Amino acid sequence: MESIWKEYVVGHHAELEKDIKTDVAVVGGGIAGILAAYRLAESGRKVTLLEAGVLYGGVTQNTSAHISALQGYLYNDLKLDQAKPYFESQIKAIDEYERLIKKYDIDCEFQRVDDYLYTVDNPDKIEKEYNALSVMGANPEYADNFHIAQFRPACAFKVPNMALFHPIKFLDMLPKSFEFYERSRVLDIDVKQNILYTNKAKVKADKIVIATNFPIINIPGWYFLRMYKSQAYTIAIDNVKTNIQASYQSELANGLTFRNYGKYLIIDGLSHRTGRINANDKFQRLEDTAKKLFPQCKVTHKWTANDCVTYDSLPFVGYYSKTSKNIYVITGFNKWGMANAMVSSMIICDMINGKNNEYEELFSPQRCSFKFKPAMSNILCTVKNLVVKPLCPAVKGEDSLPLDSGGIVRFNGKKKAVYKDADGVIYACQPLCAHLKCQLVFNANTKTWDCPCHGSRFDIYGNIIVAPAKKELCSEIVKNEPEE
Ligand SMILES: Cc1cc2nc3c(=O)[nH]c(=O)nc-3n(C[C@H](O)[C@H](O)[C@H](O)COP(=O)(O)OP(=O)(O)OC[C@H]3O[C@@H](n4cnc5c(N)ncnc54)[C@H](O)[C@@H]3O)c2cc1C
Repeated sequence: MESIWKEYVVGHHAELEKDIKTDVAVVGGGIAGILAAYRLAESGRKVTLLEAGVLYGGVTQNTSAHISALQGYLYNDLKLDQAKPYFESQIKAIDEYERLIKKYDIDCEFQRVDDYLYTVDNPDKIEKEYNALSVMGANPEYADNFHIAQFRPACAFKVPNMALFHPIKFLDMLPKSFEFYERSRVLDIDVKQNILYTNKAKVKADKIVIATNFPIINIPGWYFLRMYKSQAYTIAIDNVKTNIQASYQSELANGLTFRNYGKYLIIDGLSHRTGRINANDKFQRLEDTAKKLFPQCKVTHKWTANDCVTYDSLPFVGYYSKTSKNIYVITGFNKWGMANAMVSSMIICDMINGKNNEYEELFSPQRCSFKFKPAMSNILCTVKNLVVKPLCPAVKGEDSLPLDSGGIVRFNGKKKAVYKDADGVIYACQPLCAHLKCQLVFNANTKTWDCPCHGSRFDIYGNIIVAPAKKELCSEIVKNEPEE
């Protein structure tokens, strides 16, 4: 289950082995961390980046890589004093990608394309978003003949001059005049003394930038109460014989997006809150849609990832908290991290260098981002999975699990997260997340243990796939005895 970009994620860089001092420590080697480190280093700072796994190996390797200011149904719900500068910031980000790609002659298949927003059954919403974008001077145009093969949505419009690229080729070829270390997970941060600890060494920094997708410090910041994670599924298909030469997205949060990469068509969507898995056939549904549109197509890649969602749909970029002026955060991209990572790098670089940035206030983590409905839903989910479920005993034993399935059951007298493989081998992990101890949920689409509260994910051996967890789950593997 690997993304189409993954073959360019190489991961052969050194681990941090000895204590060091630096001006700025950046935690996280995804697009947010790399762009921030790049810009800070270009501005003359000594920068050290620490990555838990390998560079670009997090959400970034699993993106669909539309670089767009059109971001689903968004602008109509924002206040005008947010919508206009936010739109402008995204346009600046696309231009900045183009500038850097030209400057360093980066071959990452960057192309300007029209981006379409479509609806299957809600033309009203399309009209509202169209009007909101028109007011901001985005020049949207209705697209009467919009279709993908025989799929003809009810209504669509396009915004010109958005972009597509290969994210990993871009990041890999971007000059790195900063130190970076792979397999160097930050396990603890002394926020008073600005010291970061990995399992082998420590880093003393004047400033720290947390770009771990979901922030790894719980308090201060309280991001675990102000965001949640959403998971989406993606396939690439071959043998399509159509190059749409554009980017398509649905107005629905769980609708489908489409783009080409070379001969492939990439389709993603079917989003849900991480850990709230409503179906086990996500990939099958994507494949069925693809086959309906292109009967001869062949699925070549399948992958899935999660991103952080804020209540007001704008990212959090700036001081980690009111009281931590030497620690910065970049998070909450709402599945639009390509343009937003570029904007974030400019904001953070200006803040650290004591310069004003016109978007600092708009993106500030200290703004009021509270919205009643998503906040309540998040709090209820946390109460249910952090307080209620862990207190409930496991009623059924591992015998109740069919082959190739998982669940929270009794195993050797204790409540465990158990996956039983196709041969009956048991993989038993602790059932509570290593982050804040929410009860985990088995995702049969990906065969992972997912945290419904804050989106950490673990494989069946208990290894961390996705932060904010910093520790693995304790686990044991029990082979079944062959029957006589
Ligand atoms: C299915 C899907 C499709 C998407 N498509 C688009 C799109 O078309 N356009 C768009 O703009 N956006 C898209 N996005 C969103 C975009 O991909 C993300 O917002 C972006 O990649 C996030 O980058 P990041 O650097 O914040 O996170 P990551 O890439 O996850 O980087 C964070 C890094 O931090 C590391 N880390 C975590 N904990 C620690 C620790 N304790 N110590 C050290 N390192 C640590 C992780 O290993 C990881 O490498 C999509 C998202 C999804 C889920």
